Amino acid sequence: LRRIRPLLAGIACLAAAAGASPAPAGPALAPETVEAARALRDRALAGTRATEWVASLIDRAGPRLAGSPGHERAVAWGVETLRALKFANVRAEKVTVPVWKRDSESGEIVSPWPQRLVLTALGDSVATPENGIEGEIFEVHSLEELAGRGAEARGKIVFFDKKMERTADFHGYSTAVDVRGKGASAAARFGAIGVLIRSIGTDSNRLPHTGGLRYDEKLPKIPAAALAAPDADLVERLGKAGPVRVRFRLACGAQAPAESANVVAEVVGRTRPDEIVLLGAHLDSWDLGTGAIDDGAGCGIVIEAARLIAEAPRRPARTIRVVLYANEENGLAGGKGYAAAHASELPKHQAAIEADSGTGAPMALSWLAGPTAETFVGEVVPLLAPVGAGKSSPNGSGGADISTLRASGVPLFAVSQDLTTYFDFHHTANDTLDKIEPKNMDRNVAAVAAFAYAAADAPQSLERIPEARRPQPE
Ligand SMILES: [Zn+2]
Repeated sequence: LRRIRPLLAGIACLAAAAGASPAPAGPALAPETVEAARALRDRALAGTRATEWVASLIDRAGPRLAGSPGHERAVAWGVETLRALKFANVRAEKVTVPVWKRDSESGEIVSPWPQRLVLTALGDSVATPENGIEGEIFEVHSLEELAGRGAEARGKIVFFDKKMERTADFHGYSTAVDVRGKGASAAARFGAIGVLIRSIGTDSNRLPHTGGLRYDEKLPKIPAAALAAPDADLVERLGKAGPVRVRFRLACGAQAPAESANVVAEVVGRTRPDEIVLLGAHLDSWDLGTGAIDDGAGCGIVIEAARLIAEAPRRPARTIRVVLYANEENGLAGGKGYAAAHASELPKHQAAIEADSGTGAPMALSWLAGPTAETFVGEVVPLLAPVGAGKSSPNGSGGADISTLRASGVPLFAVSQDLTTYFDFHHTANDTLDKIEPKNMDRNVAAVAAFAYAAADAPQSLERIPEARRPQPE
């Protein structure tokens, strides 16, 4: 990453040379822009085809972990669908994606009372030996507790019994998810032989939630799996009475990286076609379900928002670019690949917005940009009030795929959605089309389309993310 520093400095200079506009004194948006954005919003609220695009994707591709046959079909679907909808400059931009494959998995309580456990390997986990691993459970409730009691973990299977809180925003998830990402290496540091976590989710179904882990390359890689909530409850109850022994087998693992692609399409801008407003979502999904809410929904929302803009009587000044990212769930290769391939063009990215929060109703417009962008946000948010997103939050981060643009200062946006039930289904076999709420899809299309039109037609360049709020390359 060291090499990136001069490049970033260069980009900053380019942006300055391009004459990034100072804070606008008057209104940021022309009356005809506001009128066009409002018309797009109302058109979307009257009914969209977003749910149709989700169904079309998942019925053809099914589960689509990067590099899998389903994923290849998803990329082909993206190109064909966007061409059929008459977008401009439709193309597949090559990226190399990591490949991880799940073959089979099983587990059981060995003692005190043998019975089957429902579990699933965490993404990127190593396999167990063919006969599995067996050991005594050492239960902790957080990474911090493990760090304080590490000596007790040696030779055992660490069980992270951390319960996720149900919240309408990302708070519950972001508080709970550290044990999934870091638990395996945290336990390996103390000589544990394996890890089980309580699924990161809010349901009580007997369906475990997968999701990526990240091994610390300096530590031994130990296998890790998530228990369905009722199975985590069982292990917890038994553990109160005495030692619990479990065994689990995971047949899974990393394979050679594969060639894949981000799918890109455009609505070319009326007067400033080289400047970009990016609408992003990701094509890949975990392998257990069919990725309807994560992130078929986002693909449907951004495609439909761009399609409505293309049909509008007056195109916005800047280009609307849809990017269906190849790989978010395990490795973020889509976002990284886009940022690298488009590095020289990033100073001309006016804004990026991502839809990767399922099918819940819009709640707010979250943003991360320079302080003077607040004038623009203040004029857009009233347009979003009728869809439920009539407020803003300046502490946004966009979304995972577009987070790779943050180092270049590209203003990042997201429509914050109601996540109250999202984590009942997220990353499980139950993430299927019936969970999509068509009315909410329309509301999200309305919000994204109105925002994107306004950003693409604003007379001013939005002030970029201040240096102090960009990630510092190491
Ligand atoms: Zn996602």
